[in-house]
Amino acid sequence: MIVVMREGCTPQQVEAVVQAIRDMNLKDHVIVGTERTVVAVIGDDRYKDRDALESLPGVDRIVPILAPYKIASRQAHPEPSVIALGGRHGATVGGPRICMIAGPCSVEDRSRLLEVAQAVKEAGAHALRGGAFKPRTNPYEFQGLGEKGLEILAEARERTGLPVVTEVMSIDQVLLVARYADVLQIGARNMHNFNLLLGVGKTSKPVLLKRGFSATLNEFLLAAEYIIQAGNPDVILCERGIRTHEDYVRNTLPLAIVPAIKRESHLPIVVDPAHGTGHAYMVPAMCRAAVAAGADGIMVEVHQDPAHALTDGAQSLTPEAFARTVQEVAAVARAVGREL
Ligand code: PEP
Ligand code: MN
Repeated sequence: MIVVMREGCTPQQVEAVVQAIRDMNLKDHVIVGTERTVVAVIGDDRYKDRDALESLPGVDRIVPILAPYKIASRQAHPEPSVIALGGRHGATVGGPRICMIAGPCSVEDRSRLLEVAQAVKEAGAHALRGGAFKPRTNPYEFQGLGEKGLEILAEARERTGLPVVTEVMSIDQVLLVARYADVLQIGARNMHNFNLLLGVGKTSKPVLLKRGFSATLNEFLLAAEYIIQAGNPDVILCERGIRTHEDYVRNTLPLAIVPAIKRESHLPIVVDPAHGTGHAYMVPAMCRAAVAAGADGIMVEVHQDPAHALTDGAQSLTPEAFARTVQEVAAVARAVGREL
């Protein structure tokens, strides 16, 4: 359940509600909204005394939350969450502006990364992506530059002012990656790694959580809930395609998840049409479609020489194609009442 406080309630009244929840052996999570403060009650509250909470001073009403995810649900937080990404240009995701995240699949070397970072910035990107630790299906393929890659990403941030989004693959990497990155990416293969979710939940960096390729919407939002209830409210959801029988694409990109997430949750949703299709020629169209469907952002892979990329070249846009895509996305954004 959530306890909705009255407008203008005092901090002491909120504190009394928190104390009452703790006295019931339940956990509390206070969410201060622009108009209302709500206190989410976490744990099995089925047999607890709702009347006792409802009669406390400053309480407006008690709303049961039926979804298994509580703090990620829109009932607990009716306004959309706007998450600041860091960097020098005040990039955010979740507000009226569409956020464009672009960069290579992997950081390959310093000069190529710095060059592509500058190119995506000039084309209109708001954040730079690039993997330093790569989850590879084949153990003999390029695994990423590790900490060296993180250093290069940090240098690119210094030069461009763009916040850096990069993957953290294991719990022992969390502090290291958080030292360099602005946004911690949890890859599709790790969406069910609950210890890792708790690990990034203890940091103060926003988390870009990719949907597992066989995860349901429910499992996706419960993974987000792990991160939030561990203490980190800044979770950005990312749809990157799911496995189906279809084989003309690398993954099937289910854009219907965008309105579904908007209905179920206050968290922003970003779409990744690069992994979601596997083919560069499909990426611009799916970027436009994602924004038309209501996505808050786009994440794409950009490489100056896709044919020679060490990872995911087939789905990488050239900087020129990315620049055109940004213009097309801007036109769609305007058509649906948003902007870049
Ligand atoms: C990536 O972003 O390069 C990546 C490995 O993504 P995913 O986890 O969605 O496969
Ligand atoms: Mn990739």
